Amino acid sequence: MDDAFSFPRNPYLLLTPGPLTTTATVKAAMLRDLCTWDEDYNRLVEEIRREVTALATADPGYTSVLLQGSGTFGVEAVVTTAVSEDGELLVVANGAYGRRIHEIARRGRIPCSLIDCGELAAPDPGRVAAELESRPGVTHVALVHCETTTGMLNPAAAIGRVVKEAGRVFILDAMSSLGGIPFDAAALGADFLVSSANKCIQGVPGFSLVVARRSELEKTRGRARSLSLDLYDQWETMERQGGKWRFTSPTHVVRAFRQALVELKAEGGVAARYARYRENHRLLVEGMEALGFRPLLPHALRSPIITAFHRPEQERYEFSRFYRLLKEKGFVIYPGKVTELETFRIGHIGDVHPADMRRLLTAVEESMFWV
Ligand SMILES: *Cc1c(COP(=O)(O)O)cnc(C)c1O
Repeated sequence: MDDAFSFPRNPYLLLTPGPLTTTATVKAAMLRDLCTWDEDYNRLVEEIRREVTALATADPGYTSVLLQGSGTFGVEAVVTTAVSEDGELLVVANGAYGRRIHEIARRGRIPCSLIDCGELAAPDPGRVAAELESRPGVTHVALVHCETTTGMLNPAAAIGRVVKEAGRVFILDAMSSLGGIPFDAAALGADFLVSSANKCIQGVPGFSLVVARRSELEKTRGRARSLSLDLYDQWETMERQGGKWRFTSPTHVVRAFRQALVELKAEGGVAARYARYRENHRLLVEGMEALGFRPLLPHALRSPIITAFHRPEQERYEFSRFYRLLKEKGFVIYPGKVTELETFRIGHIGDVHPADMRRLLTAVEESMFWV
């Protein structure tokens, strides 16, 4: 490789929901400066857009847009561009990321309501159907696919079916599932799907990805409440000028992302990555349970992305000290985000492998100062 470089290894693995541990080759891809106006760069962007669309769906009616900023910027761009002035959004939430979508709509002065399922229950498609039946004004419905707050994988296909049967537009936050869990956006009924560079595709942070049903995106011209988050304008410019972003784009991050896509393919695609994540998850849960930890969710609701555990019951346990001890041993874990219960989370996505999970379990056992 022309820019193979020898890097010092990261002092610790990130076992988090993103940014994640990335490969040295993904990081090395950033060692080149590119001109945003030049055809080399624009060709790269177009290639990425095609691949991202193909990753999300086999349906030819979809297109994709890349947008500067983290995943939330992509969600905000979709919500504030897609819902028209006389539209209304219904958010089906069971965690912090779902509630964030509601907050985005509220800040955008978009009429919005919330079905809050609590953090430990899966959304009920029947309840969504009933709500849509009684609320003809609702034009759009938003759901998080994998709710990273708890690691719950939501029934996106069942909710999507209800939304489409009711003739509404379906927005899916697939931030922590695209690239890591096999699915087809069209089969889920998703009209707008959002993800970001630094989740399961294993790039570095810096931009978000929106895959949209072209016929829905085309309706959104002139609807956006913001200039920089105008998804339609961003898409129209990329289409018309063949890979041109409206404003300065994160060129190094984009180049790293292309390398991440190459590595996803080399691993065997989404199916192979899913298998690795599942094995990471299985080893982690089995090992943690053997050490006395209890996962927050029942088996059927968990995803292979991130796992939340209850805090140990012993009085002497303290997250900050546990965190520090694990970090010294080379592993960074994540605090909990569930409102009512004390939890912590361990992610198993990124350049993280079953052997790392085994090493982690040894480190956890050696860090249990409270027993
Ligand atoms: C990571 C993530 C986001 C985006 O968070 P950012 O901090 O903006 O990258 C949104 N939704 C879900 C479910 C996520 O996991």
